Amino acid sequence: MSRIDAPTARDAGHDLAPGDATFAEALAELRGLVPGVSVDPADLAAASTDRSGFVPDGPPAALVRAGDAADVEETLGWASRHRVPVVPRGAGSGLAGAAVAGPGAIVLDLSGLDQIVRLEPADGYAVVEPGVVTADLDRASRAHGLQYAPDPGSVEISTIGGNIATNAGGLRCVKHGVTRDAVLGLDVVLADGTRVSTGAGSVRGVAGYDLTSLLVGSEGTLGVVVGATVRLVPAERDAITVTGSFASVEHAAAAAAEVIASGITPGMLELLDAATLRALDDLEGTDLATVGGALLIARTDGFAAAAEADAIAGIFRERTDAVALSGDPVEAEQLVRARRQALPSIEARGRVLIEDIAVPRTRLAEAVRTVGQISAETGVEVFVFAHAGAGILHPIVLLGDRPADDPAVRDTADRIFSLALELGGTVTGEHGVGLLKRQWLHRELGPAAVSLHERIKAALDPLDILNPGKGI
Ligand SMILES: Cc1cc2nc3c(=O)[nH]c(=O)nc-3n(C[C@H](O)[C@H](O)[C@H](O)COP(=O)(O)OP(=O)(O)OC[C@H]3O[C@@H](n4cnc5c(N)ncnc54)[C@H](O)[C@@H]3O)c2cc1C
Repeated sequence: MSRIDAPTARDAGHDLAPGDATFAEALAELRGLVPGVSVDPADLAAASTDRSGFVPDGPPAALVRAGDAADVEETLGWASRHRVPVVPRGAGSGLAGAAVAGPGAIVLDLSGLDQIVRLEPADGYAVVEPGVVTADLDRASRAHGLQYAPDPGSVEISTIGGNIATNAGGLRCVKHGVTRDAVLGLDVVLADGTRVSTGAGSVRGVAGYDLTSLLVGSEGTLGVVVGATVRLVPAERDAITVTGSFASVEHAAAAAAEVIASGITPGMLELLDAATLRALDDLEGTDLATVGGALLIARTDGFAAAAEADAIAGIFRERTDAVALSGDPVEAEQLVRARRQALPSIEARGRVLIEDIAVPRTRLAEAVRTVGQISAETGVEVFVFAHAGAGILHPIVLLGDRPADDPAVRDTADRIFSLALELGGTVTGEHGVGLLKRQWLHRELGPAAVSLHERIKAALDPLDILNPGKGI
């Protein structure tokens, strides 16, 4: 998928390029400053891309495995002096091409900074290094009856630093908010190598500009996260799962909207369309697509879980008789299995593009239905599952043997992004902009907001060292 060229050192107006004698000298200087520098071709190839499928035109110049925050300060100070672009990297699980690094760039790998520095259960927060794997923090919090709420589907591989840089979301976000809502403060190294702290350890804090929020979701373009203070919330307890199989997406979306309007905040509210149900049936031997044309999966938890689950089941039953409810953990897991297996069942059919548009919740049915029409018109199969409670849709475009730049695939994706904007939504509800959605971001923001983004970038990174060509 190398239709869009990854920005190189030269593109960004930087002084050095691979092959230059001065570049070799500069690299020798970097080795003297930081121990973890690699130019091993296998390391460079592995660090050049993420899970978007985008492959740059060549490998980056070097990989720096940061061992501590001082390595990050040294690397960025060096990069500023020599004007070398730096691509921060967590686990490389991103889907937008944000961690892609081409010729002339240095990859700064933060995954080795993987310590949970401390947990403060009474104050409800943890201090962590950026390379901590998301699920590891969640598991460590459970020992104290707490959880780290943001749970992207990649939770077992992604890092907290990558989650912060992409403002990741997940199933639990309908109740607890996205990563931005979980970050209380950050330790960040700026492009020139200086280190700043933002936010506070208290749950509330209004001092100064909200730099924490600015940095969350900035995709490594404004600073490198070397530490984070993140909120922990009470762990799920007494969870009850409710599923409803509906005749159509319209019925399911109307039920989802009524659940939210009723004042219940479920811990999960997921929708699967008919195409996804057929893929699940093929993989799992179930008969979901025979029972209905759309499936809703809700989960409640906490002291009011039983009452809320009953209320949700009541709302579902106004539109369908096919409702199941269980508080038994094994049975509940069985009910949620359809959601967990949704992506694997589609991937079993071939290579996919994973999209993530968001629309106002009341436009969800229209969005799912129109994606189906787009698919029928372009002849490219598209499957949809959605975080219905948040209005986020994952249209999964089946590539099969087609290249990602196949005209019909591009037309399908373009029409899906246009649809998101027409319905008053956004081209990315959780995966970020990266390289792949920049042109769409500009359309979504308009010239005045793009200009404001550019001025913010210039204020924090005047030499355009940090992840140039990504995000904005
Ligand atoms: C199977 C699968 C399911 C997924 N499900 C979800 C989902 O449900 N929700 C969701 O939101 N995403 C999802 N994703 C996308 C991806 O996992 C997230 O974007 C995740 O937050 C990326 O984390 P990472 O550590 O892999 O970051 P990377 O991919 O390494 O980097 C992503 C971006 O963060 C920057 N970055 C990384 N670390 C730092 C740092 N310390 N400081 C500054 N910048 C940094 C990089 O430069 C890049 O711009 C999924 C991906 C896969 C493969």
